Amino acid sequence: MARIVMKFGGTSVADLDRIRIVADRVRRQVEAGDQVAVVVSAMAGVTNQLVGWCQALSPLHDAREYDSVVATGEQVTSGLLAIALQTYGIDARSWLGWQIPLTTDASHGTARIQAIESRQLLARMAQGQVPVVAGFQGIAPTGRVTTLGRGGSDTSAVALAAALRADRCDIYTDVDGVYTTDPRIVPGARRLDRIAYEEMLELASVGAKVLQTRSVELAMKERVRVQVLSSFGAPGEPAVGTLLVDEDEIVEKALVTGIAYARDEAKVTVKNVPDRPGVAAAVFGPLAQAGVNVDMIVQNVSADGTTDMTFTTNQAELPRAIAALDAERAHIGFAQLITDTNVAKISVVGVGMRSHAGVANTMFRTLAEKGINIQVISTSEIKVSVLVGKEYTELAVRALHSAYGLDA
Ligand code: ADP
Ligand code: ASP
Ligand code: MG
Repeated sequence: MARIVMKFGGTSVADLDRIRIVADRVRRQVEAGDQVAVVVSAMAGVTNQLVGWCQALSPLHDAREYDSVVATGEQVTSGLLAIALQTYGIDARSWLGWQIPLTTDASHGTARIQAIESRQLLARMAQGQVPVVAGFQGIAPTGRVTTLGRGGSDTSAVALAAALRADRCDIYTDVDGVYTTDPRIVPGARRLDRIAYEEMLELASVGAKVLQTRSVELAMKERVRVQVLSSFGAPGEPAVGTLLVDEDEIVEKALVTGIAYARDEAKVTVKNVPDRPGVAAAVFGPLAQAGVNVDMIVQNVSADGTTDMTFTTNQAELPRAIAALDAERAHIGFAQLITDTNVAKISVVGVGMRSHAGVANTMFRTLAEKGINIQVISTSEIKVSVLVGKEYTELAVRALHSAYGLDA
């Protein structure tokens, strides 16, 4: 007998038929003799709609109310799946974050999990009950509902698996594993049987949304065995997917393991700031204080004693970034703010980069051959990222996928 957390994403619970299919899959796991806890996302598209409603009313809305709105999607699916399981004769019960409780800090919209009370869940699971946990949500010390950031149900699932000391955390989604790149963009992408935690962490953080970054971080830290699987295969058949493993368990280390893209980036250029010590702190201090996550940064060469600072952030954070900089305009002393959301970040990731040179060069050459202009560059030990025009996203990803020999 094993203890397993099964997580189902939005497309896996998109409608009642899909929910019945998920219930059937859970039933088979229970009938195989395992103790099972389930984590669900909102139905596909629901969270986007809820976010859109908040933004339409006010772009700088109160994050506590945003959480109160967007957490509702998961409440619906947890209840529906519990009902579907009950029709199969399974003793299932839905759980919202506050009922467990799953406590988080009070960073509304991007809350971090602090603790999960596991005793009651474990006791009920030991009696054969199946908890169906609403993913993506928790409760802050203030007593208010929080959410964990987009894609956060993955993190709910891994954290629950750690708290329950589960043997495995199976993340069911609409693709049958982690691929060399998004299979929706590159049909020739290959499924990876295994991927190192470090690589998955880096891929997730640069846009491969198959797993939320924090879920990978947590899995690595808490030693949770995570598998990515498809919920669209026949429920009776053994599923193949991708297993997250330690780097030393991968014998053949590819130079580049995967390629990711992010189309929700925004580029901000702060024009004509005085070129003197302290100016970077003057620009990025207020951004940090406003909770804006800055990603890539370049400072242009200076002319006439002034310079341009360019940085990228998530599009969702752009209104706050502009507000924070405008408020400090006199202090920073810039002439103009230019924003551009017509950009995409393309990244290549691989632990093989630690020991091999030339990865960045191949990237720059490949993009040049396709006539794609690079606007900003950033690198880490196992990653190279570039910012390009959004219209080049597919072309760039496909060209790089071939250039690094990843095509199936
Ligand atoms: P869920 O709703 O199940 O959480 P997501 O939409 O969040 O699913 O994540 C799954 C999607 O991630 C896939 O449909 C795929 O388009 C995308 N994706 C991006 N990069 C990759 C990758 N390297 N491997 C697999 N899927 C990827
Ligand atoms: N429903 C949430 C979202 O769309 C959480 C998740 O799906 O993981 O971001
Ligand atoms: Mg997801």
